[in-house]
Amino acid sequence: MFKEWRIKTVFGIFFILFLLVIWKLVQWQIINYDKYRVLAEQQRTINMEMSSPRGSIYSADGSTLAYNQPAWGVYVNVKDIRDGKDSRSKYEIIRLISPVLEISEDILDERINMSLNYVPLKHKVSEDTVSALKEIGISSLRYEQEEKRVYPEGRMASHIIGFVGKDDIGRESGRYGIEGYFDGDLSGKKGFVTAEKDTFGRLIVTGELESIVARKGRDITLTIDRGLQRIVEKGIRKGVEDFEARSGTVIVMDPKTGAILAMANYPNYDPNEYWNIKDSSILNNLAVSHVYEFGSVSKIFTAAAVVEEDSSNLKAKVEAHTGCIEILDKTVCNWNRQNHGEESLVEVLQKSCNVGTYYFARKIGSQKLYDYLLSFGIGKASDITLQEDATSFLKDWRKWSELDLATASFGQAISATPIQIISGISAIANGGERMQPHIVSTITDDDRIIEFEPQIASTPVSKDTADSVTDMMVEVMKDGGFQWYVQDITNYHLAGKTGSGQVPYQDRPGYDPTKVNTTFVAYDARPERKFIMLVGLQEPQVGGYASDTAVPVWVSIFKELSVYMGITPIE
Ligand SMILES: [Zn+2]
Repeated sequence: MFKEWRIKTVFGIFFILFLLVIWKLVQWQIINYDKYRVLAEQQRTINMEMSSPRGSIYSADGSTLAYNQPAWGVYVNVKDIRDGKDSRSKYEIIRLISPVLEISEDILDERINMSLNYVPLKHKVSEDTVSALKEIGISSLRYEQEEKRVYPEGRMASHIIGFVGKDDIGRESGRYGIEGYFDGDLSGKKGFVTAEKDTFGRLIVTGELESIVARKGRDITLTIDRGLQRIVEKGIRKGVEDFEARSGTVIVMDPKTGAILAMANYPNYDPNEYWNIKDSSILNNLAVSHVYEFGSVSKIFTAAAVVEEDSSNLKAKVEAHTGCIEILDKTVCNWNRQNHGEESLVEVLQKSCNVGTYYFARKIGSQKLYDYLLSFGIGKASDITLQEDATSFLKDWRKWSELDLATASFGQAISATPIQIISGISAIANGGERMQPHIVSTITDDDRIIEFEPQIASTPVSKDTADSVTDMMVEVMKDGGFQWYVQDITNYHLAGKTGSGQVPYQDRPGYDPTKVNTTFVAYDARPERKFIMLVGLQEPQVGGYASDTAVPVWVSIFKELSVYMGITPIE
């Protein structure tokens, strides 16, 4: 009996509390919806401003690429005006502050809603503006410390860095690139200030706010060399303009460590004014996100695979073949349908012979070729720590037809991102070991430094095989159908390969015969192996194949890069 009474009482109390909560919710959300929505927004805004200082981003030489500049939020305490605590009227105040804040009187009139208590007028204003306002002496104005993200180099490295923008609920957060990927590290631990405010959203701000900061964001130093970055940005821009390409990409990497020394795309944007761009696709770093058919560069992976499986393939010749071959019910041809006669592997690479590559690939078969491609990093994300890093799709070898084996061997119907392609070829440059591509060298906390050590991502082939393939790529530089463009850099001992990939239609199956994506990847073949560089042009309207587009752009960038990096001719 007693027990039942107690249960009923407890239940009754809970029921009353429940009704109270419901009533409060109705009051908040329905009756006073507009009022509380505005207040909630103010609260959020203030929370955002109280976040701990965001970490900076530096290039390898310590130059600042992104930092936070102190700024101020200007607020008006409307209640003071309403209660007559401010000697001036709303309209007198508006007239005085409009020119200083550079906001029209109409907009200020609208913003200063007299039924509210506390209204933000403008965010991220400079110290000078605040001084000018203080000089006028308006007692109802309030100032809150804020921070403004500044990118002192403007467009330079914009695709690597990203920017700080607003997310869906108006909170500031890192978007794209390093700002996006490392948002948690950069933004640090936020100071939460809700407790400092009363239920009307009033927050009288003084200097104490700094003490709320929990932990400053971490600083990030990139592997990017600022001088080299400038060179490649200028070069890829000129390349895109000269060949009227839709876009262009360039990556320079140290093949011995996997460190990215420079990475750029054109067109680019200014992260200080990211909101001014018209087409949001421009924000994507194509070097890590553009999955495309990279054409004959893939023949290097095939050559490495067949030599690794059987080094006698270095001396083997494939039987004389015509410029085309029937596979299943399809005819596969060389790019110029030429008949080369009997040829060796190096000749197949020099002539970029599709039929010959397929002949060699047949010796190892689909499963082996697939395994090698995966080991070279094709068909999976590069794991570079940039937000847009994309994976690519490599069809399971068990589903390959004979035609799939052929096209994969010479680089059709297989796709990858520029970072995956350069990473794969860098394994050849680095004696068979593919180093994990990385763009961050250190992350610095208040009390520690996290350093990124070079790591082996995979070892697709042995050193012997890699060195043999390098030798073949050196021969390609000498006689690969683009000698005219490289004639004045022949004594630099470079190894390279071109690729011209088909472009699928956007809206139907098949390839658009008017479009091509061109790639040239080449590296320092001296023992120092100082660099590897990829240049890609998306849909150039002038020039055609890679040998006439990506190669000359690569060469013109190399001429500056070699001086900058101190790479001298051999003879
Ligand atoms: Zn051939």
